[in-house]
Amino acid sequence: MELLKGKVAVVTGGTRGIGYSIVEEYLKNGATVVLCGSRKESADKAVESLKKTNSKFKVEGIYPNLTDYKSVEEAINYVAKKYGKVDILVNNAGVSARESIYDYKVEDFDNVIALNVNAVFYATKAVAPIMKANGGGVIINTSSMVSIYGQPAGCAYPASKFAVNGLTKSLARELAPDHIRVNAVAPGVTNTDMVANLPEAMREGICKTIPLGRIGEPVDVANAFVYLASDMAAYVTGEILSVDGCARS
Ligand code: NAD
Repeated sequence: MELLKGKVAVVTGGTRGIGYSIVEEYLKNGATVVLCGSRKESADKAVESLKKTNSKFKVEGIYPNLTDYKSVEEAINYVAKKYGKVDILVNNAGVSARESIYDYKVEDFDNVIALNVNAVFYATKAVAPIMKANGGGVIINTSSMVSIYGQPAGCAYPASKFAVNGLTKSLARELAPDHIRVNAVAPGVTNTDMVANLPEAMREGICKTIPLGRIGEPVDVANAFVYLASDMAAYVTGEILSVDGCARS
């Protein structure tokens, strides 16, 4: 069943990890997808790899500077002009942090907030009038389980994801009258580059804290993004959907 047939989606951070899997599942479900990468090379490589999976996939790669409002606005307007609309926006690009407060450089804190929070606001601000004019749309943000529990280092990262939840819940209320649903997915530890460098002992330790007994795969998370983007979630807005194997730490 193609749950997103005829839909046009923009997915930030779509070149690898969770974002790449979201793009792939959206394409399999019949959407046209414009993925955003941080560089031309990574965007082109992701598109090439997706086309290898299925040459009929309707996918394009772009590389706006997500931390610059003008660049984001231009990118969203480009997609709307080329494809006639934007039905789905996925704000997924993000960076993590592990610095201790004693060593934290102010600019490192600011960089995390710029991408994980400001860019979510920028893309939402740029797309909302387009969705409103088209009769509605769906915005889905990537949060994290740390938005519920915090984490013992790299405080910019959980702070940014608490902010993502705040944007999600507030914008869901603000945009509901315009038929724009706003939700977030809060993944637990997921098998991407973000966690690839963890030592094996630490991965095993993490698995012990997860009742389902394993680290999540990107597709586990991407499936939640398919559901929330589809009409199956037509009455769901303002939700932070945990996809974490019931991890609670
Ligand atoms: P990843 O490092 O594999 O991918 C990150 C994506 O963000 C890439 O596509 C990259 O191009 C993009 N990106 C990074 N910096 C960028 C920048 N400055 N400008 C534009 N794009 C940039 O990470 P991932 O694990 O797939 O993470 C995706 C999202 O999931 C993030 O928001 C992350 O916070 C969240 N998340 C991940 C985990 C996990 O365990 N992997 C858990 C919870 C939440």
